Amino acid sequence: MARLVMKFGGTSVADLERIRNVAARVAQAVAAGDEVAVVVSAMAGATNQLVGWCQELSPLYDAREYDTVVATGEQVTAGLLAIALQTIGVDARSWVGWQIPIATDGQHGKARIDHIEGAELIRRMQAGQVPIVAGFQGVGPDRRITTLGRGGSDTSAVALAAALQADRCDIYTDVDGVYTTDPRIVAKARKLSHITYEEMLELASVGAKVLQTRSVELAMKERVRVQVLSSFSDAPGTLVVDEDEIMEQEMVAGIAYSRDEAKLTVRRVPDRPGVAAAVFFPLAEAGINVDMIVQNVSEDGTTDMTFTLNKTELPRARAVLESLHDSIGYAELAADSNVAKISVVGVGMRSHAGVAGTMFKALAGRGINIQVISTSEIKVSVLIAAEYTELAVRALHTAYGLDVA
Ligand code: ASP
Ligand code: MG
Repeated sequence: MARLVMKFGGTSVADLERIRNVAARVAQAVAAGDEVAVVVSAMAGATNQLVGWCQELSPLYDAREYDTVVATGEQVTAGLLAIALQTIGVDARSWVGWQIPIATDGQHGKARIDHIEGAELIRRMQAGQVPIVAGFQGVGPDRRITTLGRGGSDTSAVALAAALQADRCDIYTDVDGVYTTDPRIVAKARKLSHITYEEMLELASVGAKVLQTRSVELAMKERVRVQVLSSFSDAPGTLVVDEDEIMEQEMVAGIAYSRDEAKLTVRRVPDRPGVAAAVFFPLAEAGINVDMIVQNVSEDGTTDMTFTLNKTELPRARAVLESLHDSIGYAELAADSNVAKISVVGVGMRSHAGVAGTMFKALAGRGINIQVISTSEIKVSVLIAAEYTELAVRALHTAYGLDVA
């Protein structure tokens, strides 16, 4: 017997037939003797529609009212799933955020969970009832409804699993696990049986959007074992766990790519102390997140500074730097949005040499030029021309021996 939190994403509860399918799965776990609490998302597309309505009425909508509106999607599915379960003889009841309560801070639209009062839900589970909790929402210090940011029901589920001291948090989605890379690009991508929290975080932050990043951070902090699996198949999923639960650590766990980046080069900046601060501090002040940075050595007293940032922030970054043209004294700005970032990720890198070398060699073998390189303890990333994205990901997948046999 185990205590489980089962979370179902929007595609898993997209219509009544799928809700019945979810109910059957929950009933199965209950019949096996598990104590189960469920977290649901809104029906696929429902939240987008609700967000759209707010924006249509006013682009400058009141965030508190936005939360009142967008939180309703999950209330619908929580109630429907409770009905579907009752219909097949399972004792179930719905809970929305304020009833539990799931206490959050007051940042409407992107609130963070402070505390979940778990005692009553535990008591009910022990008495054989299945709590169905509306994901994505909580209640703020002002006692108004809050939401956790898009994709937030993953975070609701992990936080609930921590509060209920669950043995595992099963996240049912439309993919059946975490793969070594995007299976749409690489037919030989392999499903991972295990992945570490850290690897999952790195993969999520570079574009493998299986779980909301915050949910993985929280799982790592609270040591919640998370399983990613499909509600449409019975195949085992991928377990996201602590590093020491994985016996044979591969050097590279996965390869991710992102086409969301742009590259900006500040040419011929005077090479003297304080100039990097003069470029990057104003960008930070403008709330612009910079990712990779390179600066080369200069011969003639000037240097080029290249960095990457999210494509959507490129116009703002340009504007900030153009306004500083005279005070910094650079020659010109050059932007390129036609780039992709490719990253290889693996905690095994800590103990294996040669990961970066293998990457560079594989890319060179395909004639792919590397524009920027950055590394962390468990990740090597390169920036390349966007048209080579798929070629690069495939070449690397083979080079690290990840192809399915
Ligand atoms: N329904 C919310 C969204 O679409 C939360 C979630 O599904 O995780 O963002
Ligand atoms: Mg999601």
